[in-house]
Amino acid sequence: MSLEKIASRYEKLTVQFSEQRYNQMAGLSYDRGMMKKLSDQLIEVSLEFLGNFVEPRSMYLTSIATVADAEKLETELDLHDQRMEKISTEKYRIAGRRVNWGNWRQFNSGTDDYMKRKEVFDDFIAKAPDIAFLVEKRMGISEDVYEKYDLTPLDSYLEFEGIRYDELRDLLIRLGDGAKDTFLAAAAHFAPEVLGKKKMEYYDDYYTWRGHIYEPLNKYFEKIDALDEVKRFLVTFGFNPSKIMVDAEDREKKSPSAFCYGIQIPNDVRVCFRKVSPFADFGSVFHEFGHGIHGICANPDDPVWKRYVVPRSVAETFSILIESMLDTPLFLKQELKLSDRVINEIIDRRRFMELAFLTFYAANGIMKMEFWKKGYSIEEAAKRWQELTKRFFIEVPGNYWLLHHVMPSYDMYSPSYVIASIRVAAVRERLRQDYGEVWWKDSDAGNFVKGLAETRGEFDVKAWKLDAESYLKEARSLSFL
Ligand SMILES: [Zn+2]
Repeated sequence: MSLEKIASRYEKLTVQFSEQRYNQMAGLSYDRGMMKKLSDQLIEVSLEFLGNFVEPRSMYLTSIATVADAEKLETELDLHDQRMEKISTEKYRIAGRRVNWGNWRQFNSGTDDYMKRKEVFDDFIAKAPDIAFLVEKRMGISEDVYEKYDLTPLDSYLEFEGIRYDELRDLLIRLGDGAKDTFLAAAAHFAPEVLGKKKMEYYDDYYTWRGHIYEPLNKYFEKIDALDEVKRFLVTFGFNPSKIMVDAEDREKKSPSAFCYGIQIPNDVRVCFRKVSPFADFGSVFHEFGHGIHGICANPDDPVWKRYVVPRSVAETFSILIESMLDTPLFLKQELKLSDRVINEIIDRRRFMELAFLTFYAANGIMKMEFWKKGYSIEEAAKRWQELTKRFFIEVPGNYWLLHHVMPSYDMYSPSYVIASIRVAAVRERLRQDYGEVWWKDSDAGNFVKGLAETRGEFDVKAWKLDAESYLKEARSLSFL
């Protein structure tokens, strides 16, 4: 098969597979048998490519990932099931069901008695080793597949992101260390209101904070509609958001977190979301529409790999840029008509979560990088993760990493969000300098962003300087400290 034939077959299969995946996540009916068949065909086409070509490099790396994913499928399904089964307790129930790994976060956000949260946390941590063998197995499969091509999942990740191991590790350390003290001081400020106690402890995880911190803001967002506002903003900015399909219906099996799928890029891009709470909905709708415009801006004449194979930090650059409007006082004032007091409250709370994110991502990102570099066992990984949490925020039992929703189920924990956030700060600075304080009302600024979005897989990952210091300076400015 020629490269063009392989690429067009890859696109055809990817489109069909994404459509099924989309349906599954959107709570619509989907065909499991068909997904399995398509995934087998995707392996075939990836192996065909790997057997005959080494270029384009992005297609080469993504083909390895496709093969590794397919080979892990069974183990990951087992991990999914056993985690629900073994990480559970009969002692507490939520909506008539026992508390388990799947509804743990719901339990945490619905339980005001922190001693109960602590009890479940300790119980689940003690049970975590029961699923360790499956995590070990899925990591081992990845390692073996990449080894055939003389790579590790880490090598591939770093190559996509255009960053060296030491550079990324140093960046994460600098951000984690730089965020720590302000994060802990702010956590002490918010603890009585958000956690119902004097100080934060090891079982008050990132998601517990995120589930509660925005509650006082909801009343200001009840009467404005996130979808209307994001569309209005994008039109002023020079985009055509009507090209993005939206599914905002409530369905029982629909994923609670919003997502965007570029099914056929750029012609079939969909945002799917479910109302959760007014302020959080604004964040997720703005974020997902950022992915949406990134998808619709692709050039349909570009080759398959350029349109589809995009480094994670590049994808998140556009979503975080659009979401960052909620961190922009002038936007909140002029467009959402909010008072200075409310704006101040929004900025403080979002910055606090930014600091929480930096400390948590520093520990998670560094552990996963070292995992591949140093070949940690599952126990060594737990020990190391515990040390890192102590360094960057508060010491957490190491086996928590096995219960996280990303760390044990993906090869890498993507520091891509961190890279993207700092890159967005640089992009915003450029927009401000070239188009003024209210740059989002200038369609030339919109065209500039469109141009960046169109580059897709050829986005210049090294073009924007990652300036940790000025990024930290902003994140650390909280009005009450
Ligand atoms: Zn995203």
